[in-house]
Amino acid sequence: MGTYNKIYKHQNKSCFYCGETTNLEDMEKEHVFPRSKGGRGIKNKVLSCSYCNRLKDNLTIEEFKIKSEELLKNTTDKELISKHTNIIETLNKLLGGLEIRKNWHKKATYKIENINKIPVKI
Ligand SMILES: [Zn+2]
Repeated sequence: MGTYNKIYKHQNKSCFYCGETTNLEDMEKEHVFPRSKGGRGIKNKVLSCSYCNRLKDNLTIEEFKIKSEELLKNTTDKELISKHTNIIETLNKLLGGLEIRKNWHKKATYKIENINKIPVKI
């Protein structure tokens, strides 16, 4: 089972940033801390929808938050307001120390129904 397949299940089939349920083939590989700025490792890898991936580009979490807040301020589109509210919530959690791969187990297959039973220790 590929790493991103596991990440997909670990993320409950939804975009890491906005939380929108997305098909695996529509997901894009994303590095929370930009690879170009040294971000490495499993705890840095997430899957996101193409909207969030494009928006984040190679920004840091702080920069992405500023950009997302700007966009939120300047839109009246309900869908975008909801999306950006979710993105900012995720970014705030990250800035507050959210563990991206909490309960990650490299050998687990991540059956969705067992998502809360995954062993904490690797
Ligand atoms: Zn998204």
